[in-house]
Formats: sequence, C-alpha cells, structure tokens
Amino acid sequence: MPVYTLPELPYDYSALAPVISPEIIELHHDKHHAAYVKGANDTLEQLAEARDKEAWRSVNGLEKNLAFHLSGHILHSVYWTNMTGDGGGEPLAADGVGDLADALIESFGSFAGFKAQLTKASATTQGSGWGALAYEPLSGRLVIEQVYDHQGNAGQGSVPILVFDAWEHAFYLQYKNQKVDFIEAMWQVVNWQDVARRYEAAKSRADVLLLTP
Ligand code: MN
Repeated sequence: MPVYTLPELPYDYSALAPVISPEIIELHHDKHHAAYVKGANDTLEQLAEARDKEAWRSVNGLEKNLAFHLSGHILHSVYWTNMTGDGGGEPLAADGVGDLADALIESFGSFAGFKAQLTKASATTQGSGWGALAYEPLSGRLVIEQVYDHQGNAGQGSVPILVFDAWEHAFYLQYKNQKVDFIEAMWQVVNWQDVARRYEAAKSRADVLLLTP
C-alpha cells in the first residue's frame, strides 16, 4: 500500500489556458508530479530494506532522495490548488480574504511590494526551484522563500501557502526561455480563496514548533 498518492487535478487540463497550456498541465501533473509520488514511496521502501539489512551505507543518499521527492509531492499538491481559471487580481476583504490581504501588507509593506518580491524570487531561481509565500510559525509572519530544487533554502517549519513552480518543465513548452513572462502571467490564475484557506489553517497551528515556553 503506497503511503503517498497523486491527487486529482481540481480542474480540466485546459482550465488554466491561455496562461498555462493543457499540454503542460497534463505532462506536469500526470508525469512529473506522479514521478515524485512514486519516488517518495520507493524511497520509503528502500529505507525499510536498509533497516532490515542494516545496510547503512545507503542511508545518506536515501535521505536526500526522500527530501527531494517528498518535497516535490508536497509543493505540487499545493501548486495545483493555488490556481484557478477564475483567479487573479488582488485578495480583497469583499471576497472574504481580508485577513490574508492584511497579513500581506503587514509582512511586506504593500501588496505591490509582496507581488514584486515573489515575482523576482521565482524568476531569478538558478537551475530548478520555486518561489514560495510561506507562513513562518515562530514569528507568525509571512515570508517569501526561494526554494532550490524542491527542498533547499527554506526555513524549517515554514508552511508554503502560495507556490510558483519555476522549473523549466512548468513553462518551457509554451514560454521557451522566457521564465519571467511565465511568472508574470501566473498572477492571472492565483486562487486567493485557496491561499487564504491555507493561511488560516497554518495560523491555527502556530505553536507547532513549541520553541517558546
Ligand atoms: Mn513541477
């Protein structure tokens, strides 16, 4: 019984066009994301085998693989729900997402400042990575992280609530080498209701690290 399973897309392959083509969505979900799910499950099995055989020479590589595949699975699972064909614009109190709008202004000074920083953090990834808006539970504020691969350069315990996939597989078939154009277009499909839902859930678990007495 696999531990991790590929979630269904919450929309059709064509739902995010023209920002993201149906071909990209299908390949990205059915092939790339599926590979991370399989990789996480396979690595857990290999770790179980290593324990059984006390084959600890492989533990270093397996732990790296687990972090890579598991984080890939988690980030893609957030990514799909972060987008909708009816998205875009700014989070507004009138749409029931006022808490998120306030938190963005408190943490980044303005919505425009937040948007510019997440755009730049995503578009300037070197090699493969992500831009992520995350809830940081020690301070209770929102931070932007530039994630290397799927798992590097992120604060321990921070919860990603809005992620932009900046790997080439996310855009190359449509945008070629113009990563910045892809990231700028992404703002048209952001599902603010989903981001706000994730913000509220993360905030309600703010003591998760128990680092304060
Ligand atoms: Mn991806």
